Amino acid sequence: MNNWQKRDLKYIWHPYTQMKDCKLMPPILIEKAQGLKLYDTEGNFYYDTISSWWCNVHGHNHPKIKDAIKKQLDSLEHVLFAGFTHKPAIALAEKIISLAPTKLTKVFFSDNGSTAVEVALKMSFQYWKNTGKPKKTKFISLDYGYHGDTFGTMSVSGIDLFNEAFSLLFFPSYKVPSPYCYRCPVAKERDTCDIDCIQALEKLLEKKSNEVAGIILEPLILASGGMIIYPKEYLARVANLAREFNVHLIVDEVATGFGRTGKMFASDYVDFDPDFMCLSKGITSGYLPLALTLTTDKIYKAFYADYKLKKTFYHGHTYTANPISCSAALASLEVFEEEKTLKRTKKLIPLFKSLLKGFINLPAVGDIRSIGLIGAMELVRRKDTKEAFSIKNRIGLEVYKRGLKKNLVLRPLGNIIYLFLPLCIKEDELQDILERTYSVIKSL
Ligand SMILES: *Cc1c(COP(=O)(O)O)cnc(C)c1O
Repeated sequence: MNNWQKRDLKYIWHPYTQMKDCKLMPPILIEKAQGLKLYDTEGNFYYDTISSWWCNVHGHNHPKIKDAIKKQLDSLEHVLFAGFTHKPAIALAEKIISLAPTKLTKVFFSDNGSTAVEVALKMSFQYWKNTGKPKKTKFISLDYGYHGDTFGTMSVSGIDLFNEAFSLLFFPSYKVPSPYCYRCPVAKERDTCDIDCIQALEKLLEKKSNEVAGIILEPLILASGGMIIYPKEYLARVANLAREFNVHLIVDEVATGFGRTGKMFASDYVDFDPDFMCLSKGITSGYLPLALTLTTDKIYKAFYADYKLKKTFYHGHTYTANPISCSAALASLEVFEEEKTLKRTKKLIPLFKSLLKGFINLPAVGDIRSIGLIGAMELVRRKDTKEAFSIKNRIGLEVYKRGLKKNLVLRPLGNIIYLFLPLCIKEDELQDILERTYSVIKSL
């Protein structure tokens, strides 16, 4: 442990971390980063295989994004966003609306994924109040869904490990089984299932839709819940049910947005009209905090009224629409165009998939799943019964430690080991990372 690390442990409480573990494994002191690589003060490098918690898109130290940030600093660092506005926010809102599903026409700014979701939940809730349906107050969400760490978002998340300590304080919400194909909730086979797992949602809506404000889910991949990738038909069916039963559909694209799944948004895989879309993580390519909640004209209009009618949306954050963050986001979207990021990604996906396929032969690997440049494997004690490793086993931690020795950041989600790769990755880097990951899993 070097002196900086000692000072770190003396003063800092890290997120998602049992600080006692840090006595043996102090946080790695990172000094600089370039492209896909993080460099520590000892001269070691680590591939940023999980995009610094799923936010880096175009690589570290990208000249274009850096320049945009520097340039913005010379004119305006921040200004309050009520009664005032600025060009970077306006240009970004306009650009995002041009990329998002057609009916999403309004943008509300905030600064992290959890608040983007809070905003959607509060708008949905208040919409029904404002339009004379005050009984529609509940939300439906998925087991294994994850929408953030604030109380509102925890209330609609399904990951017990993360939030069970706080469950007494959650507002009530309905949970339905997830389309978790490897561990199918209705015991079907993937190829012939006909999405039978959606029946629980259907039945719930038949009974309770008059008290439901909205359904919230992560499109195509339940990320924090274990990189559970599900068929797009499921999303399409949920969208139809939301329409049929007059409840809002909130798509949480905080993890999936900005090219992660091979398209700009995971929602682009399905032809539907969500009522809300939440964006954050990749929006500035990992340079600065920013989040957006997109919604429709219809919802916006339900709040547009004379002041005395009390229909105003009273919500905001100090750093709403920070101009430097907005400039970074605009630059990132320009990089998507200049570097043809999505086209490049599309070319790499088949190679990624085929390299991942090889892992299934390893004894500890029960399932392999991937979409875009996100790939995951579920480690199991026994392949035939799909018996999970007990949590005490800390197999994920073992993988993490061995990963670091191979210059990889394989930070696990329980027994799920995953890669969430920056889109700037090159073919040889992809091959190198997959080879190193293979040798780590093989060594178990
Ligand atoms: C990470 C994440 C969030 C929360 O975002 P924060 O910026 O960490 O608050 C919300 N939803 C999804 C799908 C996420 O992956």
